[in-house]
Amino acid sequence: MLRSIATLAFAFFAAAAVALIGRPVLRTAIVAAWNDPASLPALSIDPRIHHEAAARPCAERIADLLPKAMAQIESAHSRPFSKSPRIGVYASYRTYARANGLGDAGIAGVSRAGWALLSPTLCEDEHDRLAGVLTHELSHLHFFGWRSRNAARPPPWFTEGLAVAASGGGGAEGVDDDEARLALRADIRVILDEAAWTDFSAIRFTREPACVAPCDLWTYRQRLAFRQAGLFISWMRARNPEKFTLLLRRLEQGEIFDGAFDEIFGETPKRLWRFFIDDVARVQPASHLPE
Ligand SMILES: [Zn+2]
Repeated sequence: MLRSIATLAFAFFAAAAVALIGRPVLRTAIVAAWNDPASLPALSIDPRIHHEAAARPCAERIADLLPKAMAQIESAHSRPFSKSPRIGVYASYRTYARANGLGDAGIAGVSRAGWALLSPTLCEDEHDRLAGVLTHELSHLHFFGWRSRNAARPPPWFTEGLAVAASGGGGAEGVDDDEARLALRADIRVILDEAAWTDFSAIRFTREPACVAPCDLWTYRQRLAFRQAGLFISWMRARNPEKFTLLLRRLEQGEIFDGAFDEIFGETPKRLWRFFIDDVARVQPASHLPE
């Protein structure tokens, strides 16, 4: 009898484990846990940085960039880091995809569990994006580092916009402020919903952007979305820096985004976005002014 109960229990847990591992999100989380960046060797000149052996030169470049990038984020977020950030630097796209919790090597940087994980592309073809993406990821580490693990998360457009604004455009390279404003005026506007922007296909616009070859439309629409969200955050902060800083502090304490936002600004994010769009529409771009 006991034996058959044990067999049944084993079968039940085995079936549950197979079912759970069969879920893609859980599977990538388990794979990421098996590929913990802490197991990579630490850089001797800066043990906050761990790297694959072949990524050592890139890790050394990051050690040079890190103090300035951290200072920039502490200034933009008006507060020091709650804990020291840790950086994982990869030479293998396969290992990077396994470690980043998304199973996707196509994203340049990911922050998770107190780590900023950086794609090999930032050490190779896209080395000119290294400082910007590093600083962008530090914004995420700073913000989430102050919050308890189970605190409600703000919508991704807010944290991505914050990271783009705080890093001076990291993650939105290739689309500048003027181009993002021109798109806003042409009603090509990113939709500020709850979509997870780590999945770029989830980003939606009021009108689909287009770009001319060799522009890659997939990359362009992601960068345009990030830049427009960053512009909105910068506008919000410039309009009332004290209120914006208060919003950050209250979100860091784990308050629900919509409630804290409405209370501090006296408006919903959607209404404030409307005011922002009106402001953008009022300012005539220099290229359109009569000579
Ligand atoms: Zn980001």
